[in-house]
Parts: sequence; structure tokens; C-alpha cells
Amino acid sequence: MARKSASRDRILRWGEQSSLEIKTLDRQLPVIIPIGSVESHGDHLPVGCDTIAAARLARDACARTGAVLAPSVAYGVIPAGEHDGDVPISINAFTAYVCSVVEGFYKNGFRKIILVNGHGGNIDALESVCAEALEKHDDIKITNYEWWRYQIPKEWDAVINEGSHADRGETGFMLAVRPDLVEMNHARDSNGPKIMTWYYQQGSGVDGHPTQATISEGKKIYRIVLNKLVKLAMIAKVDKTRFI
Ligand SMILES: [Zn+2]
Repeated sequence: MARKSASRDRILRWGEQSSLEIKTLDRQLPVIIPIGSVESHGDHLPVGCDTIAAARLARDACARTGAVLAPSVAYGVIPAGEHDGDVPISINAFTAYVCSVVEGFYKNGFRKIILVNGHGGNIDALESVCAEALEKHDDIKITNYEWWRYQIPKEWDAVINEGSHADRGETGFMLAVRPDLVEMNHARDSNGPKIMTWYYQQGSGVDGHPTQATISEGKKIYRIVLNKLVKLAMIAKVDKTRFI
């Protein structure tokens, strides 16, 4: 059977291309790399929540823009790992690993990289990854996109950032994209300390009010944050500066 350069849903999934197919890909295309974590999100959300969210956003943005969908980085920075299901990764190990991943796409000739991050604990590391790539290569463009940050409409900021973890916004997001993985009858509100280290070591995995999440609100949140990512990917796609 003949192979196709894109899957049936027209998404260019890097991991499903052969070397020969990758050779012919347009190097002007942005590469979107989903990044998450394996950590507790309370009793109502799966431990892979952040990776699932990032991968879904990345997939849908690739479908709408023609950007290349990279395989996910499924593990993220968790300093303590106190909860059942946590897989803690140190910031140094994670930073070095993601730097290597980015370098791999650069070596393949891609110069526009969008890191779609689903986990707050990865932010500092990913900023280092971007800084290191920019320092090393004067022809790379790289950014990290966190769906709950950056230009959220004012009226939605209070909902999306209602708590800091497994909260109304994050639970609504998951209700929108993977309702089959959300157990609302296990959702418990919790006002955890705002300092993340304390949260990880002592908290319930929840900081916020997941019981207030609804699927319709989650769908609105999803649309807002996907549109932002699509806009970013389109800007990257048409950007010809320093890439010709
Ligand atoms: Zn999360």
C-alpha cells in the first residue's frame, strides 16, 4: 500500500513519516512539540492530563495550519513526586533532554519551533531551553506556549486561572477534550497553598474549584486557547525572515 505524506486527517505527524518523506518536507513549516508531565491532578483527572491537553492542542493547531506535529515529551518537571502516579523528573534532566529534542529538529533543517507546554512546573526549564537554542543558533525561532497564559481575554482569565492546578479551568479543558477521562463525582475543591513546592509536597493534587467546571465552559476555554495557538503557528508559518 502506498504511503501518504500526511495521515488521513491531513496532519503531518513526524513519527509517522519515513526518512524519505521527512527529507521532502517544507523546512519553512513550524514544528509543534507537545510537552506535559506525569503527575497527580487529584482524584478526578488522569495523571497524564498535562500531556493529553498539550498533545490535543498541538494536534488541532497542526490540522488547521499544516504545521508539523512532533512526538510528545510526556514527562515533565516534578520536584517531589508525593502523590500516587507521580513520575518526578529533575529540572536539570528535563532541560537537557528537551534541549536535545529541539536540537534534533534543528539538525533536520527546521528553524521554527513551538513548544506547547501543558505543565506549570516546566515553565522555567522551557524558558532555559529557548534561551539556550537562541544563544546557540542565530537562525532559530523558538517559543513556549502555555495555554493558560498570554493574552487570555480578561473575562476568561478568572475562570481559566481560577486556581493553580486541576482547577475549574483545567478540569473544564479536560471535560471538553477527553470527557471519558474525567470523574466529576471524585472532584474535590481545595484551596492549596499558592507556592507550588508546598502544593506538591502537601497538597491533594488540586488547587482550585474543579466542581464548578462544566463541559460547555470547557469548550469555550478550549476554543479560545486553540485559536491563540493557531494564530501563533500561522505567524510562524508565513515568517520568511532569516529562513530563505
Ligand atoms: Zn495540569
